[in-house]
Amino acid sequence: MWLLCCKCNKYKALWQFNKRSDTAFGVQQYCRSCQSSHNKKYKDDNALYITNYRREYNKNHREYIKEYNRNYHFKYKDKINKRQRLYRRFNLSRDALRSSNRRSIKLIQSVKLTNSEKYRIELLYKWANILGKNFQVDHVVPLSRGGLHHPDNMHVIPRIQNLKKKDKDPKEFYGKYYNFIIKGEGHG
Ligand SMILES: [Zn+2]
Repeated sequence: MWLLCCKCNKYKALWQFNKRSDTAFGVQQYCRSCQSSHNKKYKDDNALYITNYRREYNKNHREYIKEYNRNYHFKYKDKINKRQRLYRRFNLSRDALRSSNRRSIKLIQSVKLTNSEKYRIELLYKWANILGKNFQVDHVVPLSRGGLHHPDNMHVIPRIQNLKKKDKDPKEFYGKYYNFIIKGEGHG
């Protein structure tokens, strides 16, 4: 079945219209693409009115909104918890990244990072996350020994190795493998 769109005056299939229960064919007068461009134009033209209206509404319905949110959380408690658990499992790296950033700021060992350096650090944590919980991001020269919170001073190593390494000096810990592991050069 073909319907005429009132906006672009073209005949379109029924599925190309959004649903609306109170009309004859159960669809809106405008086709989907016309409706979305119409909505966008309305939003742009009335941006100020919309923000003011929302602000006013939120102010006048504060108690109602609070109650609604409380009920929603109570009703979908299990669902929300499950979603949060899943989110945390796949975003472990984000928490670790945040805590290490905070730790370095506390020790005043954070250097001013460019955006690309920040991104490199983020990638390291993401990489560790992909490898699983048995891998961690480690500061080559530990922060407690004056190492910097900088991507050049960070690498992903197995958790067991990280636990053994702790705050030891990397040259001491890796011994003759230091150059190979840290700098990627051949065995010394
Ligand atoms: Zn149309």
